[in-house]
Amino acid sequence: MSEPPSEQELRDQIIHYTCLKNCYGKKGNAGACCTIQDRDWIIGPITDPKDFLKRLRSHFGREFRYDEVFIDYKEGHKLFPDKATWQNPKHYPALRVLLDPEAVYPCPFLGEQRQCTIQEIKPKICSDYLCDHLKSVISQTLGDDKKAPSAK
Ligand code: SF4
Ligand code: SF4
Repeated sequence: MSEPPSEQELRDQIIHYTCLKNCYGKKGNAGACCTIQDRDWIIGPITDPKDFLKRLRSHFGREFRYDEVFIDYKEGHKLFPDKATWQNPKHYPALRVLLDPEAVYPCPFLGEQRQCTIQEIKPKICSDYLCDHLKSVISQTLGDDKKAPSAK
């Protein structure tokens, strides 16, 4: 007989399912925190920019320029002048987003199915982040939202 899943494995499954199938409690929704859309939201500050660039290089086998991956305050505060989060220098460097005509503004590493395509090497902030909805789902299911998060 196989071992029952550990609490960490259950937690990973809850996160995986919620983020990819029921993001923010909306059936079929996925990866909202990896996009800006019409919300006041920024993907930053990235706390491990140098290490993240190194991980990208070894993962993709090519160099990534800093400004290819990140946006600094000087550029970012002009990109979204109506969003308060983009006006706060403490939120930088932020992850660059694609300025698409649909105004979804996704992280460039978000895949077509709205899943992170660099799961194993994503920035620390992405690994650590749990939105309120996800915290509540974890808390209701496992009775605990304090332990380290895992894969989206
Ligand atoms: S953390 Fe929250 S907002 Fe982000 S993908 Fe998961 S459910 Fe959606
Ligand atoms: S690196 Fe991955 S988890 Fe982080 S914002 Fe981009 S797609 Fe989302």
